[in-house]
Amino acid sequence: MRNGVKLTTALLRGLQRKCPCCGEAPAFRGYLKVVDACSHCQTPLSLYPTDDGPAYVTMILVGHLIIAPAFMFGFFYEYPLQVVVPTMVISLGFVTLAALPYVKGAFLGLMWYLGLKQAR
Ligand SMILES: [Zn+2]
Repeated sequence: MRNGVKLTTALLRGLQRKCPCCGEAPAFRGYLKVVDACSHCQTPLSLYPTDDGPAYVTMILVGHLIIAPAFMFGFFYEYPLQVVVPTMVISLGFVTLAALPYVKGAFLGLMWYLGLKQAR
C-alpha cells in the first residue's frame, strides 16, 4: 500500500485517467500530457515518467487481444488481401490510439504506486 492506496486502486484510477493518489482530479490535460500536479491533492504527477512503456503495453494488448484472434475468423481469409490489410491497419490504428491514453493512465498509476520518480 502507498498512502493507503492499493495497487489495484491506483491502476483503476489511472485507467480512468484520474490521479492515482486521490482519484478525484484528472491526471491528464489533453490526449497524453500529464498534469504537473494533481489539482486536488497536489501530488506531482509529472515527476513520474511513463516514457515508452504505455506504447509497448498497448501494442502487446492489441496484438494479443485483436490481431491474433482475427486469424481465427473466416472473413480474414475470404476477402482479398487488398481489402483485409487496409481495413485491419486502419481499425487497429483507431483501437491503439483509443486505448493508449487509458493504458498510459494505468502506467502512471503503477509508476506512482512504485514511487518511481524521475531523477532530478
Ligand atoms: Zn490527486
